Amino acid sequence: MSFSNIVGQDIAISILKKVLKGGRVAHAYLFAGPDGVGKSLATKAFAKALICEVQKEEDSCDSCTSCKKVDSASHPDVYWVSPSGPKGLIKIKEIKELRRRATFKPYEARHNIFVIEGADALTEEAGNSLLKVLEEPPPECILILIASNLTRVLPTILSRCQTIRFTQISPRRLKGYLIESFGLSETDAHLLTSMAGGSLGRAVRFMESGLLERRGEIVNSFLKIGSGEELADSLEETFDRFSDKEELREAIELLALLFRDMIFLKVGAEKDFLANPDMKEVLEKFSADFSTEDIAEVLQKLREFTGYMDQSVNPKLILPVLLNSINNPQGNKTYV
Ligand SMILES: [Zn+2]
Repeated sequence: MSFSNIVGQDIAISILKKVLKGGRVAHAYLFAGPDGVGKSLATKAFAKALICEVQKEEDSCDSCTSCKKVDSASHPDVYWVSPSGPKGLIKIKEIKELRRRATFKPYEARHNIFVIEGADALTEEAGNSLLKVLEEPPPECILILIASNLTRVLPTILSRCQTIRFTQISPRRLKGYLIESFGLSETDAHLLTSMAGGSLGRAVRFMESGLLERRGEIVNSFLKIGSGEELADSLEETFDRFSDKEELREAIELLALLFRDMIFLKVGAEKDFLANPDMKEVLEKFSADFSTEDIAEVLQKLREFTGYMDQSVNPKLILPVLLNSINNPQGNKTYV
């Protein structure tokens, strides 16, 4: 893992390369941006480059002993703190340990590197304790803080770090990367890109959790409509197989994307604009019985359903009612 493996963060990476080239490294950086866009990967790549034994100008060599140790999280001079416990917080105990370690000289490298993955998950007490290191950092220390929600970072911490911004990855780059690196088909890469909201991390998580297979099953439910089967019955059969709550949540999101595509088709959107371009003909046929308002109402119901799931309502109880409301948009309006 080096900078060349990070996709779609050209500005952030070019700033970090400039820092490495100029040799003027600050004591504290804050890598800020949405989840899953490469902040942690960039942190690792930056840490490696800072203490690489080969000392290339702008990046790590990715193969020396030091680089390998950072990769396997076994470098004695790179200390990584992450949120833990049921609330996902970083507590004062962990920051006290960091401060204790910061008083030592590095064992092997030129720097002592401390990573705080979740600067937005520090308790107030932990944040204030961290501030003491940020105010007077020991000379060899470099701190890299990572945060997706800047409003939860103490302003006093923000003001003492150099912020490097990470942004969402453009759909074109993300799709191209998924095709190139994972050998996905155009259709699959397109769907993952639509669902991932500019986050490579999310796209990969979706892929690994079997989202594409679930999408195939939902699509098959739509294809059965032609053979006379009611959509709700067909969908209910499919959804029954998704026992895990997360699987069900994703399946609902996939279903919502199909309905969202129907709205786009109603207003004459081009095929490329759809999340499910391969389904254009089926969706056009299916949506002929729906008005735009009907579809908008179904989308609203799907959103509400996800809301019920967040409130821990048993999805199995409300799912049949929801699916029935999709079945006959013109007739029975007694939705969930
Ligand atoms: Zn190296």
